[in-house]
Amino acid sequence: MRILLSSICLETGTDIQLALYYLKGYLLKPPPVRPSGCLPALRSCDISIRTFTEDVNASRIARDIARHKPRIAGFSCYVWNIEKTLSVCRSLKKLHADILVILGGPEATPRAEDILNSEPAVDIVVRGEGEQAFRDCVAAVAAGRGGSPRGLSRITGISWRQDGCVRSNPARKPDLAFAAVPSPYLSGLIDLDRRDIVDVPLETARGCACRCAYCYYHKNFPRVRFFPLSRVEKELALILFHRPREVYLMDATFNAHPARAKKILRLFIRHNRGSNLHVELKAELLDEEMVSLLAAARANNIEIGVQSLNSRTLMAINRHFDKEMFRKGIGLLNKYGLLYEIQLIDALPYQRYSDLQDALDWLYSLHPVKIALLPLSVLPGTALLASADRYGIKFGKQAPYRAYQSNAMSRKEVTRLERLRFAMERLYDSQIFQKVLYELRDTAGIKISDIFEDFINWSARLPGAKRITPEKYNRLLPDFLKKKGARHNYKLTTLWIT
Ligand code: SF4
Repeated sequence: MRILLSSICLETGTDIQLALYYLKGYLLKPPPVRPSGCLPALRSCDISIRTFTEDVNASRIARDIARHKPRIAGFSCYVWNIEKTLSVCRSLKKLHADILVILGGPEATPRAEDILNSEPAVDIVVRGEGEQAFRDCVAAVAAGRGGSPRGLSRITGISWRQDGCVRSNPARKPDLAFAAVPSPYLSGLIDLDRRDIVDVPLETARGCACRCAYCYYHKNFPRVRFFPLSRVEKELALILFHRPREVYLMDATFNAHPARAKKILRLFIRHNRGSNLHVELKAELLDEEMVSLLAAARANNIEIGVQSLNSRTLMAINRHFDKEMFRKGIGLLNKYGLLYEIQLIDALPYQRYSDLQDALDWLYSLHPVKIALLPLSVLPGTALLASADRYGIKFGKQAPYRAYQSNAMSRKEVTRLERLRFAMERLYDSQIFQKVLYELRDTAGIKISDIFEDFINWSARLPGAKRITPEKYNRLLPDFLKKKGARHNYKLTTLWIT
């Protein structure tokens, strides 16, 4: 029986879609002591993995999949690919009506019934952690029971259609023993010699102890489960031997358990042969030892989610922020010269445009490498979606469900944030004018957020504003900044510094 697992990637399409390899590895591994009678058949399944880039159109992807003549086509769904994936499913069913289409992943899980009700091209949605439920579905098909109520009705964690009605079986407990899940790397499923592999993801844990209201990830995993460190070490040794450009440790908050994070960093350092490290972490939990280990591990892609500094907003999204600990953590990252990005989210409950300006002013006072102002997506299944009306949050009904208004931000202000992002990029991220910004702030007493606002108004009045290149902005900006200083009776001593 042929099975084709696929996913549409955000960018290159060469990134490793780890979820698909977990599914394949779990299907191929020897069956447990009590095989259900059909599991040995799974070992003879012909399982292929195909990934596609966003720019390939849906019917082409469907034709590519159909060429493999799979009995089952499985799709891993995320917020960035769900719409296109559904369109691929429609085209695929037109080409081969008898292919069983199974969706899974964080975007399919909370929308399982909605998808099945609205998309006849989708047959089954696997909800939550997918390995066991997907294998049970494949086993049912292999035993000729895939289309029968008897075959599917006993599989926990799936939603499916029976006689035109959508049925959701009880949820499956996320109790998969990690020892039973073959490592996609150690089992040889992923060929690390492939030249197109540049960034390698690795999961050392599943789950998150936090409960952020805008996030769905933690709902799939009520508790954090860790892969054994011995396995993580073997995986790191193998991956790093191949010297990928970057290894991305996918854990929700890498340093949530500092002692374990330090052990992993030491393993990384021991086996590293020149790769860079990408992690998401909490700055408040950093200490000097951790930061020195991050530096030795070549962690030069660090994401730090702050989301908001407004205490009412933080309460509404169920997050905590400790300003002093954060300041200390960022100070350490700066001391060791690490590259990181601090992230804010825009139209959260109670978050006014002026709150974001204040947050930017405070965060820029820490001399960060970069601040990103991310748009809010109101994701299916989240607590924020359930309370969106209460917070006056209006958002797009299709993925990526972008918020365009809230109880604290008008539609016009949310639109203006695009220009604010551009101002941050040109005046700060480009690095050319950073010293000027700090001079205007420290000597002339002008807030950085005020300079951004002036930039937004000034750039909107430039003839042909939309067509101006970054290089041209770099030529125009010294004059703009000089005038800004002059309006405050201040003469700049520096114009730009690289
Ligand atoms: S946003 Fe990050 S920290 Fe918050 S619950 Fe989700 S994974 Fe955890």
